[in-house]
Amino acid sequence: MSEVIIGIDLGTTQSAVAVVDSGFPLLLADLEGRSLVPSAVWYSKKGEIKVGHEALRLAGIEEIHTSVKSLIGRRAGESDGRLTADGYISTAAGLKLPEEVSAEILNTLKEIAENRLETEVTKAVLTVPAYFNDGQRAATKEAGRLAGLEVVRILSEPTAAALSYGLDRLDESSRVAVFDLGGGTFDVSVLEMREGVFEVSSTSGDTDLGGDDFDKAIAGFAAVKFGRDLGDFESMERVQWISEGRRVKLALSEVEEAIFRIPFTGEVPVSREAFLGLMKPFLDRMESCCRRAMLDAEVTGKDLAAIVMVGGSSRIPMVKDRVATIFEQEPDLSQHPDEAIARGAAIQAGILAGTVREVLLLDVTPLSLGIETMGGLMNVLISRNTTIPCKAGEMFTNAVEGQESMNVRVLQGERELAKDNWELGSFEVSFESERRGQARVGVEFRIDADGILSVLARDVASNVDTVVKIGSAAVDVQETKVEQMVSESVEFAFEDMNARVFEESRLKAEELLPAVGVALEQAGTFLTQKEISEIQDAKERVEIAIKDRKVAELKVSVEQLDAVTESLAAMLVEEATKAIFSNPQD
Ligand code: ADP
Ligand code: MG
Repeated sequence: MSEVIIGIDLGTTQSAVAVVDSGFPLLLADLEGRSLVPSAVWYSKKGEIKVGHEALRLAGIEEIHTSVKSLIGRRAGESDGRLTADGYISTAAGLKLPEEVSAEILNTLKEIAENRLETEVTKAVLTVPAYFNDGQRAATKEAGRLAGLEVVRILSEPTAAALSYGLDRLDESSRVAVFDLGGGTFDVSVLEMREGVFEVSSTSGDTDLGGDDFDKAIAGFAAVKFGRDLGDFESMERVQWISEGRRVKLALSEVEEAIFRIPFTGEVPVSREAFLGLMKPFLDRMESCCRRAMLDAEVTGKDLAAIVMVGGSSRIPMVKDRVATIFEQEPDLSQHPDEAIARGAAIQAGILAGTVREVLLLDVTPLSLGIETMGGLMNVLISRNTTIPCKAGEMFTNAVEGQESMNVRVLQGERELAKDNWELGSFEVSFESERRGQARVGVEFRIDADGILSVLARDVASNVDTVVKIGSAAVDVQETKVEQMVSESVEFAFEDMNARVFEESRLKAEELLPAVGVALEQAGTFLTQKEISEIQDAKERVEIAIKDRKVAELKVSVEQLDAVTESLAAMLVEEATKAIFSNPQD
């Protein structure tokens, strides 16, 4: 195994560590499954140290050190009194440099990586905000050294986000904006891709604007409703109110209204609209930074290939809305907001370690792969963007009684109907003749690391395998064609879905209609005239809907027919049982 280099996002409020695993950047989680570590450190007088969630638990009771990132590489005068004249933070365990405190967080991340990877880790790529000066970068590097890590590269956060977004998605000389709204800071940068590397063309932001402000704003709003002022609260109470503010904020990213609740005090409902009112000044500040960044880079929203949104606070709906307005396009939220930076760092680490190939998207399937099934439908076995190598399989059955072989058509594409996708190949699988739906054929798709697709079909009864190599078509498709296929699948989504529903209902009807006929004959004697005519009506409606290709009607009438046949079947079983008991000698 080649040497491991981890990628670390040392955030103001949260940090994370990631590594590239078989071509894909993955966040590493602690033993409790948490992959985001709060950037918080607690020291006791005796020199005990707690980091992350464990430290945060002591908030309000003990002094915990948070947002140390905003102090790193700073002078006392730039610290709001948080640094001593010599640039130290005073802690219960004595004076500490910001890089020493940050080193504790890095050390925790290093341990998480070592636990997960089961190997010693000594090298890392660390990210810093684009606006960090030399002094801040040097101090960050020093923090790494103190944590026992050789910092092989300091990467700027927007570049990391852009790497995570995917180099290969962009054309040479295309420009993107990275919008990063975190817990305590806001950064916006315009980047240009030149000769395969990203260059930051402009960067702007506000080092004092982020999710923490929104938590406080909600807490303050609630306090006013109780005739109080957040500023007058005791530390413990303040922490409690702000964390309730955060809970409400998170909820409002999902629902229209949330209740702010303080035990023994009361409740305040907070609507999205009220939250929007509180957010307005922050959104305006954000907007002017974005405009500044565009101005400096000499671009307008329309010149940008994408607006990549990262940072946990990007999840707030009104932030997304405002960004769409500012940049005159829908932002890209495909990157996991609080994971993107760490993933980007891991990709950079992978490139340095030689484990990541230049073009990353080659490592995933560009389009879905599947086979044609009954009714001319596409049955996806491996969906688009699955990391390779991979395999997947499913069991299929014969459509017709006495059928002795099945034609397996291997398809690639995003459309619901087989005919709209590309055929990569086809072959026959023979199996032992059975009643309809009785034969079993397992089909398995495998794509190896080189992108070669092989398809295996197995007759379960005889255990006979048919294996066909399809070739590299699975991965080797032109970017433009992929785009076209994907956009068509969106464009025709409605028609496609209708076609699928129609075919599926028609197949179900084909199965039901003969069964209904048989059951009617057998059960006819126990049914009232009304019941019989109901069943016949349902049957007729199904037949007409098929003839007229009426999707919605077919779906509904097939469901009715299905319900009717079910009760018919139950009735037959009951009658049969009665017959057995009343006629024991049979
Ligand atoms: P940083 O880079 O500053 O360490 P992150 O990018 O990790 O910060 O973002 C942390 C912030 O995102 C916190 O303020 C957190 O409350 C906020 N956040 C996370 N998830 C959501 C959400 N679903 N809705 C609103 N805010 C969120
Ligand atoms: Mg961040």
